[in-house]
Amino acid sequence: MSDILITGGSGLVGKHLQKFLKDEKYLSSLEADLTNYKETRDVIRYYHPKRVIHLAARVGGIEDNMNYPIDYLETNLAIDSNVLKASYEQGVERLTACLSSCIFPDVVDKYPMMEDDVFKGKAPAGNFAYAMAKRTLLTRIESYNKQYGLSWNWIAPCNLYGEYDKFEDHHSHFIPALLKKIYYATNKITLFGTGAPYRQFMYADDLAKVFKFVIDNDIVESFNVAPNFNFTIKEMAETALKVCGKENLKIEWDSDKPDGQFRKDISSEKLLGLYPNFEFTSLEEGMKKTYDKLNKVLND
Ligand code: NAP
Repeated sequence: MSDILITGGSGLVGKHLQKFLKDEKYLSSLEADLTNYKETRDVIRYYHPKRVIHLAARVGGIEDNMNYPIDYLETNLAIDSNVLKASYEQGVERLTACLSSCIFPDVVDKYPMMEDDVFKGKAPAGNFAYAMAKRTLLTRIESYNKQYGLSWNWIAPCNLYGEYDKFEDHHSHFIPALLKKIYYATNKITLFGTGAPYRQFMYADDLAKVFKFVIDNDIVESFNVAPNFNFTIKEMAETALKVCGKENLKIEWDSDKPDGQFRKDISSEKLLGLYPNFEFTSLEEGMKKTYDKLNKVLND
């Protein structure tokens, strides 16, 4: 039986991880509902892993977060509490949990944000409940380490995208939603806001490679992961049109809709200190792979 158990193995990150770590045990909610303590304990007891990669969470776009904040808070608090408690009780030696750049303050004095900036301000309003659950996950890991002398850690990635993204409208993140709009458009696409804010987007293979690096090298530090490019929404939309071969489409900005945070970039300096040769996938290459998959999904 595998020594490594991955929660959330059927999600975007889990499926990208399966490309690089083939023989591990990947869980989905079908095998255990991790909001239920007994199911969580039983599944961790059954596989008895040495290491847990904890990816499972309720994850969604900004609109879903705004509409269902209590669901995001309660589901994620319950999953994290159960997974960490059961892992501790079953003697899991190493646990690495996935946080998110959403945990960082809405505004700070200096960008990009470093790991120890997390508690320097209030989390952004748009996904405040999700962010607070993730800040609690960070606190739980550090408290388990402190109280029980463990070496569990966390990784905080920026926004992700990839060919295993959810392409359904109501849950969609920015890049899959953008690519889908481009796919169907004939003369224009309409995007929310002004296009001026900056965002970091990472191709999910890159995060998967970082998890593999953590496992292969028994890394116990906690750190951010984000590419050093930080494009405006407008620049990303223009890149997407180019990648999809639809530069003829006009971009219309619905500036009555909010822009959200102006910037939220995080620094990968700590990761690159540990893994100096790490290279991030370009936005063009990652978008192309994602668009090719979208074409396949919509044509099948
Ligand atoms: P995802 O595609 O929505 O997948 C979520 C995973 O969690 C699925 O495997 C799902 O299982 C599982 N899950 C949800 N509720 C569960 C429950 N009650 N019991 C058991 N399993 C449950 O999410 P993702 O994008 O891969 O995210 C993975 C991690 O990365 C999360 O911790 C997320 O916060 C973090 N992250 C994601 C992004 C992003 O842009 N996507 C950015 C930063 C950080 P089913 O398939 O069975 O539903």
